[in-house]
Amino acid sequence: MRVFTATLATETNTFAPMPTGLDSFRERGYYPAGQHPDHMSFFAGPLWAARQRARERGWQVAEGMVAAAQPSGITTRVAYETLRDELLADLRAAMPVDMVVLGLHGAMVADGCLDCEGDLLARVRAIVGPQGVLGAELDPHHHLSEAMVANADLMIAFKEYPHTDALERAFELVDLCEAQVLGRVRPVAAVADCHMISMIHTSRQPARGFVDRIQALEGRDGILSISITHGFPWGDTPDMGTKVLVYADGQVDGAPARAQALARQLADELVSLREHLASPMLRVDEAIDQALAHAGTTVIADSADNAGGGAASDATFLLRRLIERGVGDAALGPLWDPGAVRIAFEAGLGAALDMRLGGKVSALSGDPLDARCTVLGLQRDMVMSGLSGTPTAMGDCALVAVGQPGVKVVLNSIRNQAIGRDLFTQLGCDLAACRVVVVKSSQHFQADYAKVASQVLYAAAPGSVTADLNQLPYRRVKRPKWPLK
Ligand SMILES: [Zn+2]
Repeated sequence: MRVFTATLATETNTFAPMPTGLDSFRERGYYPAGQHPDHMSFFAGPLWAARQRARERGWQVAEGMVAAAQPSGITTRVAYETLRDELLADLRAAMPVDMVVLGLHGAMVADGCLDCEGDLLARVRAIVGPQGVLGAELDPHHHLSEAMVANADLMIAFKEYPHTDALERAFELVDLCEAQVLGRVRPVAAVADCHMISMIHTSRQPARGFVDRIQALEGRDGILSISITHGFPWGDTPDMGTKVLVYADGQVDGAPARAQALARQLADELVSLREHLASPMLRVDEAIDQALAHAGTTVIADSADNAGGGAASDATFLLRRLIERGVGDAALGPLWDPGAVRIAFEAGLGAALDMRLGGKVSALSGDPLDARCTVLGLQRDMVMSGLSGTPTAMGDCALVAVGQPGVKVVLNSIRNQAIGRDLFTQLGCDLAACRVVVVKSSQHFQADYAKVASQVLYAAAPGSVTADLNQLPYRRVKRPKWPLK
């Protein structure tokens, strides 16, 4: 078995102010062919799974380029074309291969290309030919396009949000692709469109039960795999939206027709559940009120400023309200401000000084916040524990107490969302002692922060990842698309 694997992944927020260029890939994770390190990285699940299978089954694996960028605005043409062509050159050098397994996100939009994954898969198909088996792992926040479905034999999206199952889905992908190479299965795709867009939080009902049920349907009656395209509402493309993707085994009598009916049935169920799939959003002051009225630690998600959805992560709306309202025992992070980090390091541990924080990238970040700050913690090259056991670089980080009585803020220099609690604890911030912990994250914080929270709330501040989708100036999405007016 000769296997080629590679990764090209980012999630493009077409409304976000900062472009995604080559530096964004280099900063988060860029490894030329054969240079991926000896640990799982988030979008290289297929590579990591193929490495394990190679040891067990004697596969020959050619590892191509791995490149994944923190979500941001439109990917530059030069970044997309340079990385795409590097991946394709790696594949040509590895030919002939029996199968190709790619780690993609599925929501990359580049200057000049609205469907990067459709374009990439078509080019890979042209190299491997109709007989080559081509599989891809996707983030569920992808845009499912006809070109993707037509060119891939099999695509499997993470089922969990927070995405804690990247490696499990990667193993499923490589194993099913192997089964196809060996002639044991012949995947046939069925797609159903929900004509809606929704956040689907699998940490709560009813999405939890829905995911458990679809998982139980897999591997029976010729149904090979079921993926839910949550969709990514902040990508303005014709393919954006919630869909269901079912693969049947074409060798099993009646299975393709059953897959088509099942995709439609599941899509209709999602439509019927749509008002309840996401956690309710509160206004900023409502969230603070509920936190203050509650005994124990409340975690508030500032999802609109989630770096993982393409926001700058330097917005000050929530921080300003905490300080204006005199909320003590509060922590907030990460606030991306490399300049402020530099100043905190220069001032040193224990220093008290006037600082200007955040509010720099665009109007969606709000105004910068000026306050007397005390430097409480400093750490160079801090690594936060991320999803699926992946270490996540946060750069040089500082913990500063801002204003009086002092909100403890984690400042970071490599933009990323809050995922592991060690974002705070490594800098000496005890979350259990806080009444309010504000995390800049939409949902990935859930897996770890729920362990310390007696209450989790979602606050609707302004930002690049606003939950108020009707505020966004869409030009390309196909309508009708609930809840867009
Ligand atoms: Zn996602």
